[in-house]
Amino acid sequence: MSTSTVTLTGWGRIAPSTAELAEPASDREAASLLRRPPAGAGAVIPRGLGRSYNDAAQSAGGLVLSTARLNRIVSLDTAAGIAVCEAGVSLEQLMAAGLPAGWFVPVSPGTRQVTVGGAIAADVHGKNHHVAGSFAGHVLSFDLLLPGGEQVTVTPRGDPGLFWATAGGMGLTGFITRATVRLKRVETSLVKVDTVRTADIDETMAVLAEHDKKYGYTVAWSDNLATGRSLGRSVITSGDFAALAELPPRRQADPLAFAPRARLGVPDVFPPGLMNRYSIRLANAAWYRKAPRLREGELQTIGQFFHPLDGIRNWNRVYGPGGFRQYQYVVPFGAEAAVRRSFEMVSAHRAPSFVTVLKRFGEGDPGLLSFPAPGWTLALDFPARTPGLGPLLDQLDQLVVRHGGRVYLAKDSRVPAPVLEEMYPRLPEFRKIRAELDPSGVLASDLSRRLGL
Ligand SMILES: Cc1cc2nc3c(=O)[nH]c(=O)nc-3n(C[C@H](O)[C@H](O)[C@H](O)COP(=O)(O)OP(=O)(O)OC[C@H]3O[C@@H](n4cnc5c(N)ncnc54)[C@H](O)[C@@H]3O)c2cc1C
Repeated sequence: MSTSTVTLTGWGRIAPSTAELAEPASDREAASLLRRPPAGAGAVIPRGLGRSYNDAAQSAGGLVLSTARLNRIVSLDTAAGIAVCEAGVSLEQLMAAGLPAGWFVPVSPGTRQVTVGGAIAADVHGKNHHVAGSFAGHVLSFDLLLPGGEQVTVTPRGDPGLFWATAGGMGLTGFITRATVRLKRVETSLVKVDTVRTADIDETMAVLAEHDKKYGYTVAWSDNLATGRSLGRSVITSGDFAALAELPPRRQADPLAFAPRARLGVPDVFPPGLMNRYSIRLANAAWYRKAPRLREGELQTIGQFFHPLDGIRNWNRVYGPGGFRQYQYVVPFGAEAAVRRSFEMVSAHRAPSFVTVLKRFGEGDPGLLSFPAPGWTLALDFPARTPGLGPLLDQLDQLVVRHGGRVYLAKDSRVPAPVLEEMYPRLPEFRKIRAELDPSGVLASDLSRRLGL
């Protein structure tokens, strides 16, 4: 099948690399590409919608196997809430198909523009991690093309080793072609949301801990540039899907409505430097002040509550041509001092982060490289050209490692390989499985080469 030469980045728009791109339309086509990659092409890596922030779904000089044409929902059992879909089906597609029958995705990241394959490979988490765990925990099985092109059906019971190496394995164990996912029952498509504005980091952590006991979904958006007594001030939104009886009469007629709107776009040429420490400080402060001190029972749409950034297509362009770096860590419960310290370090550096999100994770799953573990997770995104960003992130790594934490492989763009080894104690097991599955190194990405995964 034909391929084209493309230059790709992740969502952060840094570290571009050039590769051959193929878009197989069937398992058979994908298998034959794995068996006989085009002459001259190096290592192969799967790619979904390219929403990982980093170099995970690209392979310099290699072959990128996209799931863009493997995007059919094969079946949807509306009685049991079980979807069988090809790996390139997006979470938005699953929502649009499932909601009319009262089914929502079990876990949604902050964008619904991710594929089922990408959601398994990064074992993504959402605002309900404390009660629902991460995505792979809701996957009943997947079909995987191994590096040699052989297809296997993998279940958590039948082959836990391969299942949990692939969940969170960043595409390095094979190409997922299809998955069976258990959906979540909802009565309506509206979320009943309570909002609390907190004064500082202590109150933020206390409210988050309290809300984990009361709500299925909760997260804090934090003003990362606030200092002194306002350090870590945040707006916490928490909620659950509304029951039918909780909707006002006019909305009860169509309680499961879901209309992903036509989205605004950001122009291709965005003035460089517009997102800087001054503009982001003002934006963060305005956002914080605009939030109510306390608001209860507000009905929000799925888009408003789960995916506010999806409202602007290509919002990643606002950072200008330099792109941006995401940094997300988790540290165990008990390491609250490290969370506070990280806020102090970032605000002292005046490193502007437009989207700063703090949340508590529940139990992790057995994924060898899965990111979530019980504790505090903080995600920040910084314009890549922020002065002093490299040394700041190196210091944050050290803080995280000292407290037994780790950074997220779907977002990291710069952690030194020896530091990552300290963060992921099961990396040697993962490498062993990879070496057995793929002795001639068919699969690799820029990420796997950078970090020696
Ligand atoms: C605005 C925004 C918000 C986000 N919020 C969250 C969040 O709240 N929680 C969270 O966990 N993540 C979050 N993410 C990250 C995102 O969910 C993950 O990076 C996800 O993996 C992206 O899916 P994708 O289909 O775009 O995959 P890609 O980015 O294309 O690929 C990601 C990885 O999956 C592998 N892969 C893709 N398809 C397959 C396949 N068929 N078989 C095997 N491997 C495959 C790739 O090789 C790569 O290693 C967010 C990203 C954005 C842009």
